[in-house]
Amino acid sequence: MSTLERIPWRRNPSAVELGFEFYLEILETRLAGEEVSLVQKLLGYFHDKLEIDLRETQARGLMHSSASVFIEYVKQVSGLDFNPSSEYWSSKGLKAFRHWKQHWAALKSRKASDVGETPFETVGASRRTHDLTRRTVTINRIIRDTALARFMKGLYDYRCQICGYTFALPGGLGYCEMHHIRPLGAPHNGDDVEGNLIALCPLHHAMFDYGVIGLAPSDSSLVSIDPSVAGIGKPLILQKHKIEKTFLEYHLQVIFGRENPARGLAEQAP
Ligand SMILES: [Zn+2]
Repeated sequence: MSTLERIPWRRNPSAVELGFEFYLEILETRLAGEEVSLVQKLLGYFHDKLEIDLRETQARGLMHSSASVFIEYVKQVSGLDFNPSSEYWSSKGLKAFRHWKQHWAALKSRKASDVGETPFETVGASRRTHDLTRRTVTINRIIRDTALARFMKGLYDYRCQICGYTFALPGGLGYCEMHHIRPLGAPHNGDDVEGNLIALCPLHHAMFDYGVIGLAPSDSSLVSIDPSVAGIGKPLILQKHKIEKTFLEYHLQVIFGRENPARGLAEQAP
């Protein structure tokens, strides 16, 4: 499908920050009584200002009361809890919203001047995650959480697309891992785009990494070299975005069924 939207987050490392500030503006406008469609405004802003074509479901995902990239962003920058749901704020009222917003603005500017950098730096954050992973994990499972990956986790409510499993972390968010079907970095050099990502539980993530399971490019049904794996031949339980066939083909050709396909990388790790 040639119309597949690719989200060029890499050109917009502050897309979440900018999108969130805009969201606060339009939410306030709405709470002040003006009739605005938050979804349409968000879609317009991301398209016009950030060159990002969100789908309507993704825009709605940003406003989800319990799983939204905005919630994680606010928590990371300020430690504050934030409920992005407009229904929630309608029930609280404009005054409560403005109070929260002031609190947020004060904490955000203080943190920014303390650190001396932008408060939410996607590239730096993913590099730190990467280094930490390489130091502490001896097997080769480089987990990089890019802004796109964080966004996608929210889209799937932190559930595995193959089995639907999630579990709650202390703090309440669910847990899943985003897997790049064609892995990032040498020697695979996959892309950090929506169509190369799948949300997985840790078990299915390991099976994917080690080439035990894959997805048929024709219908995204599960294939496995181990006949005891559950769900062989079944389609994905959850599919809210389009996975690009070329990445599935690459995985089947280069990683699936190969003995230790990632060993070369693992040996580089300390
Ligand atoms: Zn799973």
